[in-house]
Amino acid sequence: MRRSSVTDTLAVVKNSLRIVPEHFEVDLPRSRAVQLFKEFVELIEIETTAYCNRTCSFCPNSFLDRRTIRFMPDDTWQAILAGMREVDYDGTVVWSRYSEPTSEKGITERIKQVKEAAPNCRVCINTNGDYLNAGYLEQLADAGVSRLWIDTYVDDMKEYTREIAEKANGKLLKRLKLEGELVESNPEYAYHIIHPRIEITNHVRNVVTMIANDLSDRGGLISIARKAIRNSPCYAVFKHLVVDWDGSVMPCCQVRSDSPKHKDVVLGRIGDGGLDLVTAYLQLATWREPLSSYGEKLGVCSTCNVSDYQTSLVNITASKLLTANNAPVKALRKFAGSIINKKQRY
Ligand code: SF4
Ligand code: SF4
Repeated sequence: MRRSSVTDTLAVVKNSLRIVPEHFEVDLPRSRAVQLFKEFVELIEIETTAYCNRTCSFCPNSFLDRRTIRFMPDDTWQAILAGMREVDYDGTVVWSRYSEPTSEKGITERIKQVKEAAPNCRVCINTNGDYLNAGYLEQLADAGVSRLWIDTYVDDMKEYTREIAEKANGKLLKRLKLEGELVESNPEYAYHIIHPRIEITNHVRNVVTMIANDLSDRGGLISIARKAIRNSPCYAVFKHLVVDWDGSVMPCCQVRSDSPKHKDVVLGRIGDGGLDLVTAYLQLATWREPLSSYGEKLGVCSTCNVSDYQTSLVNITASKLLTANNAPVKALRKFAGSIINKKQRY
């Protein structure tokens, strides 16, 4: 959904000010690299199983295999925990990617391990809700989950109506033994579910609402999505770290190591050649230059509409001026520190 021009400009200003020269260096002394990670990474997105029980038409899982059950190797998992411990990670950890996190029976144990390694982090799960019930929800809350984003998928073949959405939402509420309140109904039904310990939102979706919400083309994989002509910056590579189930480090959430079309964008595998969370974040330096400002984007970014900021004179000028590492920008960065350094909650 399109953001307002003011919101876009504020995002460009904030993110531009948060770009520092070290973001473009692959080799940094370990202590500075740890500091950089701690200061700038606000989202670690992972999956610890490959499996998803669905093959939604608008998802690359409709043609890439995610029905085979495979789990993250233990050495990779331990390396991820060690990385979070080393940086005393205090951002968000989200189970998402292209698997169904709650299909993995051991997920509650993994969440507890994350909370032990990084007690100040926030744990979130994006789920299709198929495995959830009242008891499972309590186990997730006990383990330390702060937020659940549920996407309830309804049949593509039926027309998307409020009646269908209400029925699907009602079934979920019954299963969870919870109540809540409507957030919005158009173009998609969204419902806030009230739980004492977890923030829960349910979105009832199908291909109709996904297209209405400007579905992303997932790095060129989804043909029914709009093909944007990407010109605006993308700040994901400055503040996110994305790891697939086999430990593959990806430049962003849009691309996937199991697509032959994205093989070349895999940055490495956690555990291979000493790659860990901190060095993986440094590796993203190779992606940052073209994405730090306005201009033509290439490869998987060329048609990406994710956080595609408006190409206005104000935004282009702000992006250009505020990414220059000169004395006035340094002073502004210092002055605005308490605002720009606040990590986004996901
Ligand atoms: S959209 Fe979600 S539920 Fe559907 S196939 Fe993809 S990962 Fe699975
Ligand atoms: S522009 Fe899109 S594909 Fe490129 S890094 Fe950003 S989110 Fe990923």
